[in-house]
Amino acid sequence: MKILNFGSLNIDHVYAVEHFAAPGETVSVRSYQKNPGGKGLNQSVALARAGAPVCHAGGIGEDGRHLAALLSAEGVDVTHLVVTDEPTGHAVIQVAPDGQNCILVCAGANGAIPEGYMRSVLSCFGEGDWLLLQNEVAGLSTLLTLAKERGMRVILNPSPITEALLAADLSAVDCFLFNETEGFALTGEREPSAMLNALAERYPRAEIVLTLGADGAFWQADGERTYCPACPVDAVDTTAAGDTFTGYFLAARAEGASPADALSLAARAAAIAVTRPGTAESVPYRHEVG
Ligand code: ADP
Repeated sequence: MKILNFGSLNIDHVYAVEHFAAPGETVSVRSYQKNPGGKGLNQSVALARAGAPVCHAGGIGEDGRHLAALLSAEGVDVTHLVVTDEPTGHAVIQVAPDGQNCILVCAGANGAIPEGYMRSVLSCFGEGDWLLLQNEVAGLSTLLTLAKERGMRVILNPSPITEALLAADLSAVDCFLFNETEGFALTGEREPSAMLNALAERYPRAEIVLTLGADGAFWQADGERTYCPACPVDAVDTTAAGDTFTGYFLAARAEGASPADALSLAARAAAIAVTRPGTAESVPYRHEVG
């Protein structure tokens, strides 16, 4: 059984600034960092560090070859990555002294994935394999259709929420993982149990995982619901919390763990991630999670 993560790979340019640039203004930066990013990349790192067999598909430009090398060094199979004529997807992130940020995202190669490439990648997978998707690459609906044709189990982290995503037919999804903000956008409900009820009605076949930050997480399927509290820690940077949780939850489920055990492992891993600065690099290795 293999997990195919068809997802984004980004280069994050992070600028520490005194204040965000206003129209017509030029702002000098205090410091600059270039980091690997993209929800796809982060979740592949989390799956690999959790010990799952993961293959990452998606597009990069010539300027993104180091991202492929990084994933490969983590143990992710990158043989299906495609190098396109587009530049690698990137984000320009201003960070103010109070930690607030202001982000520009350029999809680049993530938005230029040809259908023929999707077909050829998915032809290498079949019954029993899992397809993990987020909403940062083009062609989500095509990928859903192709995965179902091949009998794959489809897992969707509907992030970021866009008009196109809300309009898409998601009935092929077998498992959704999302946070409170995404749950509100999907259902119009603010209360976790109302969100879960609304999604159970809309997607009765699907397994649902709803994460609530420091308030823990729920799992729901077939009329059953399980809650797992978050581990109390002093958080310093929560950027990779959801991606760490997703990678560890899926790795545990792929090993046959119960939903309650998978939630617990994911909560412990995400709690470690939030005590460390950074994104992909803050994801713990399995031996650290215990
Ligand atoms: P996202 O990063 O997608 O917004 P959440 O903020 O819901 O996701 O966090 C995902 C999971 O990470 C939570 O269910 C929890 O287990 C863990 N987590 C997040 N924030 C904290 C925190 N401050 N302390 C402990 N665990 C946390």
